[in-house]
Amino acid sequence: MSDNLVAEIISVGTELLLGEIVDTNATFLSTRLRDLGITVYRKSTVGDNLERLTETIKNALSRSDIAILGGGLGPTDDDMTREAIAAYVGEEPYVDEQLFKELKEKFAARKRPMPPNNAKQAWLIKSAETLPNPIGTAPGWFVKTNDKKIIITLPGPPHEMTRMWIEEVEPKLPVSSKCLYLKIIRTIGLGESFLTEKIAKYTNLAVPGVGTYCRDSGVDIRVAAVGDTIEEAEKIVTPVVEDICSILSGYVFGFDDDSIVSVIKKRLDEKNQTISCIESLTGGMLASQIAACEGISSCFKGSITSYTNEIKEFAGVNHETIEKYGAVSKETAIEMAQSVKKLFKTDWAISTTGVAGPGSLEGKRPGTAWVAVAGPKVVVTDFVDWPGSREMVRQRVCKTALNLIFKQL
Ligand code: AMP
Ligand code: MG
Repeated sequence: MSDNLVAEIISVGTELLLGEIVDTNATFLSTRLRDLGITVYRKSTVGDNLERLTETIKNALSRSDIAILGGGLGPTDDDMTREAIAAYVGEEPYVDEQLFKELKEKFAARKRPMPPNNAKQAWLIKSAETLPNPIGTAPGWFVKTNDKKIIITLPGPPHEMTRMWIEEVEPKLPVSSKCLYLKIIRTIGLGESFLTEKIAKYTNLAVPGVGTYCRDSGVDIRVAAVGDTIEEAEKIVTPVVEDICSILSGYVFGFDDDSIVSVIKKRLDEKNQTISCIESLTGGMLASQIAACEGISSCFKGSITSYTNEIKEFAGVNHETIEKYGAVSKETAIEMAQSVKKLFKTDWAISTTGVAGPGSLEGKRPGTAWVAVAGPKVVVTDFVDWPGSREMVRQRVCKTALNLIFKQL
């Protein structure tokens, strides 16, 4: 086995290929492997087909030390992960008496007869060790092959898979001799291409690896390096992170697990200030994003969904303002923010008002909106003009609103 352990993840199930479910298992496994210092170069998805599955395992182990399979451990004929592993290692599966007994007991405990098909879930092969499943009927396998490679197979249901991975698999994994140190710089307010232009001197480096990617909140920058110790890897990453932060000063809102809302909360708490919002086209989406932050009651007082003009006026917006400028206007947005700020007695207030579309992707009918932030001393606004679905437009408006208040704080 190489010093730097390499793993491949194989997600099994025709439902994944048909787009019927999202492959959350592979995402979970990737983050766990990353934290263990095990490198993942490839992930594959394969349907419930014995030949293709066996071939996928063979290809994965021709390049990697560990193949991790998720799914295909059900009792039915189309679940064939066990068969494929057995075929790959050239062993004949047999019904393990102890596993069979435990399986029968699980059914008895649930007061259900055990269908004959389920006997398959008590299968084992000579080179496999059982990975117990405390919450489901399908145990997993931990297989050591003759050429010292590892095959791990776990059931598909995410709550079973994640628990078994943490409790059963991780303690059995060989320790990688390399450590990965990774820092995520979280930015808002600058498009990915402008951002990469600014940090161009880093994006083609081999060490540390610097990658950018868009998230709902903005653009994240990943800076990562591998070392013999975590301290050694950190020493490579930290100066680059510091330099990138100074190049992008004003756009960086946090690191790693920070969210824009958690950073806003931190700043408001430091100043002992509070916030409220009033939303038209976002209809509560902004409040929901704010409320998702743990402990936000320290500064968030509440929100009004003022979808109609009647409710905007009810909150305190002047009838004449809406008449003169329209509901989707800078003036109305400002009065909305000022009204809720006064009504809720908060230091800050955010408003959103606009048309959610759908805007077409060609930009012919974009969603348009105004957002305003009223603070102790300032009132600022921003305009959103965004093509795309209602969901995209509303998300964009929330992002713009949070960015606007973040900048003021
Ligand atoms: P299986 O072990 O193939 O019987 O998987 C049972 C169920 O687990 C499937 O019907 C899915 O709902 C779920 N599942 C399987 N694979 C995945 C995956 N990669 N990510 C999320 N859920 C999955
Ligand atoms: Mg399946």
